Amino acid sequence: MSTLTGLTLKAAIDGLSAKTFSAEELAQAHVTAIAAANPRLNAFILETPDKALQMARASDARRAKGEAGPLEGIALGIKDLFCTEGVQATAGSKILKGFIPPYESTVTANLWRDGAVMLGKLNLDEFAMGSSNQTSAYGPVTNPWKSQGSNQALTPGGSSGGSAAAVAADLCLGATATDTGGSIRQPASFTGTVGIKPTYGRCSRWGVVAFASSLDQAGPIAKTVEDAAILLTSMSGHDPKDSTSLDIAVPDFSAFVGKSVNGLRIGIPDEYRIEGMPEEIAKLWDQGVEWLKAAGCEIKRVSLPHTKYALPAYYIVAPAEASSNLARYDGMRYGLRAEGATLSEVYENTRAEGFGDEVKRRILIGAYVLSAGYYDAYYLKAQKVRRKIADDFDVVFHEVDALLTPTAPSAAFALGEKNSDPIAMYLNDVFTVTVNLAGLPGISVPAGLSSTGLPLGLQLIGRALDEGTLFSLAGAVEDAAAFRAKPTKWW
Ligand code: GLN
Repeated sequence: MSTLTGLTLKAAIDGLSAKTFSAEELAQAHVTAIAAANPRLNAFILETPDKALQMARASDARRAKGEAGPLEGIALGIKDLFCTEGVQATAGSKILKGFIPPYESTVTANLWRDGAVMLGKLNLDEFAMGSSNQTSAYGPVTNPWKSQGSNQALTPGGSSGGSAAAVAADLCLGATATDTGGSIRQPASFTGTVGIKPTYGRCSRWGVVAFASSLDQAGPIAKTVEDAAILLTSMSGHDPKDSTSLDIAVPDFSAFVGKSVNGLRIGIPDEYRIEGMPEEIAKLWDQGVEWLKAAGCEIKRVSLPHTKYALPAYYIVAPAEASSNLARYDGMRYGLRAEGATLSEVYENTRAEGFGDEVKRRILIGAYVLSAGYYDAYYLKAQKVRRKIADDFDVVFHEVDALLTPTAPSAAFALGEKNSDPIAMYLNDVFTVTVNLAGLPGISVPAGLSSTGLPLGLQLIGRALDEGTLFSLAGAVEDAAAFRAKPTKWW
């Protein structure tokens, strides 16, 4: 059975179609693997084995009737930020403990419509705020990867750390994730998996617990570029229930994987060569340039002059939106309620008890930058910077078709390492937040190993709605890198 969990999603689709195994066998293999691994990895907040097997049997029945969908029988993990009807959704927070959504998010509904099977709800940073999964009220996720010769527990990154760890450890064939400032791409980079944040508006945000609504996007984390393309095709699409969802046709993204990239122009932004970048990351980036050159791409140096303002702007805009979005958690309608003598006291006690430190920090920052007297100096200015960053990309996309950068400034770091310094943690997002601020698509592909044997990713950034080109380029990098490493099983 364990060989079934080692399959790529595409190989599993092929095996199911050829009736080499059933959806029930595939689900059972994953359920068994999760039960054995989760006490050590903590990738799942909630395992749903009964639901998985029931959905798998229904899938087998559909296939027998000749009604197989594109993801028929495919066993997936769902980030616990997605509302799943009748199944707890916590957003990684104590304040939503026990919250059973009465409805299904559009993205997960799309996956079930196409035949997929749910294995459970994946761990994440609280309300997706973080880069290491350590702000989760349900404990950190441990990265399946370890540095050579060390037993130190490492972070899988965040906020989609459970998604990335589960995919890397073969606990699911693919997972949903979300990315507000890098939460799909950085964990993908830390775990040797592929993660794509699509163009803002590709995937519906309906039923995804909101962090910063103008930045949040759903996307997949998968084992290969092709798997990511298959998943994104199902997840995407217009949804009248999300006014920011784009009413535009969804191509079959997998058709772009393996397409020639000959003649494409690739920009290398000067400003991403940041001070103190580890030598091995700079080298991998140069290697990526060589790979794309060899595949026929034309490489150009480009400038994105406002890059250095991206992190400060993000850490104003995101907390501002978060402070507004999180106002709804007051003990009246969802999850936790801490009693008090007056209504105000109930609000105060509930929020004091229900939110963790990082979430409180964001709410305070957000309320501050939005308050009278500071709004112009901080929030408005950050919005203007955001426009400049988007304009920088517009300019370079007249000269090039995509950009190549590292995904993250380091390999996976130790659990506990950056906990006392929020700024050090925020620096993880230096290469990823620009993409969210501009609403563009970005993909992380595993490209090599660090000196201590940990995965490192390269990021490709594309024009709005041009995920297709990104999938072709990511496929070329994947082929050239021939990244086949897997974590040594210790869990
Ligand atoms: N690490 C970033 C943050 O903490 C991004 C998180 C995300 O993309 N959800 O805000």
